[in-house]
Amino acid sequence: MRAFKPHLEGLSAYPYRKVEARVKLDQNESPFDLPEDLKARALERMGRMPWNRYPSLDAEEVRQALARRWDWPPEGVVVAPGSNLLIQVLAQAARRVLDTAPSFPHYAHAARLADTPYQAVPLRPEGEGFALELEALLAHFTEGVLFLPNPHAPTGSLFPREAVLALAERAKEVGGLLVVDEAYREFAGVDHRDLARENPHLALLRTFSKAWSLGGVRAGYLLASPRVAAVVQNLLPPFALPVHTAALLLTVLEEPGYVEEVARYVREERERLYRALESHPFWRPYRSHTNFLLVRTPDAEAAFRKLLAHGVLVRRQDHYPLLSGAFRVTVGRAEENQAFLEAAYA
Ligand SMILES: *Cc1c(COP(=O)(O)O)cnc(C)c1O
Repeated sequence: MRAFKPHLEGLSAYPYRKVEARVKLDQNESPFDLPEDLKARALERMGRMPWNRYPSLDAEEVRQALARRWDWPPEGVVVAPGSNLLIQVLAQAARRVLDTAPSFPHYAHAARLADTPYQAVPLRPEGEGFALELEALLAHFTEGVLFLPNPHAPTGSLFPREAVLALAERAKEVGGLLVVDEAYREFAGVDHRDLARENPHLALLRTFSKAWSLGGVRAGYLLASPRVAAVVQNLLPPFALPVHTAALLLTVLEEPGYVEEVARYVREERERLYRALESHPFWRPYRSHTNFLLVRTPDAEAAFRKLLAHGVLVRRQDHYPLLSGAFRVTVGRAEENQAFLEAAYA
């Protein structure tokens, strides 16, 4: 076929397969839907907007609201239907993509889609807490974009601020861009804005899909320098954020109090799950700063099947480097976590 670029032939799809189960703990979603009163207000706001008119070219109102919320210059804010789309656009723009391994799979997938050279530097092994191989990362970061999820997915570990700072300094030195993906920031209480304010070679990627409980809505944003934001904005399609998404985001940005409640609940349940799993005879949980736990087992497939036989769906992670035998369980509501623990010990 001569229609498409040859690098797209035989590219595998994003690795996700839907499985039905009573207790769904496989996608790191918030265990709670948006509070009813906020849903009602958002719906009312949508109803008042004209649906025949195009939305703003670059989600102007939402960008302004985010700029106020995070005390960030509005010219440095880019909003998109999902931070995955921003990852795609950044990988398309990048001269080269640098990643950790294991890592969130969409960085590598996006680089492949864009035919951008890609390289991943392995993390240190579990005995060293899946720490960053900082020297190797610094050495390989000579240009392009480095994606760093912090807290990290899929390990759940949190990298120290000094490591982020060193990589951001390196980005500045070589004229590259460090993108810290803060998808799980609320569960760790981290915020790298102070570092990014001082260094235009550091950008922060954020999502409404996790602690903000809006996985179904598809919305994410980038806090960056105006120069980086302009390039990313330019690669997005015009009018990319639908009016109904904008209405919803403006509503939750007016009343963001529920987010901390979700995060607190998840942190408490995460600690309870971790402690309960510590005494498992064959499984070993790792410390997590996210809304999921990575668990090592002698056989990930057997563990997955056993849990599913009890109606509990988790996500296998044993295809990743360093993670043989591992699966990931999302922290859910107390009764869901209880069902998981009962299945784990059955
Ligand atoms: C969940 C997640 C996201 C969110 O992506 P959206 O497209 O905004 O839903 C981004 N990065 C990481 C590492 C994630 O785990």
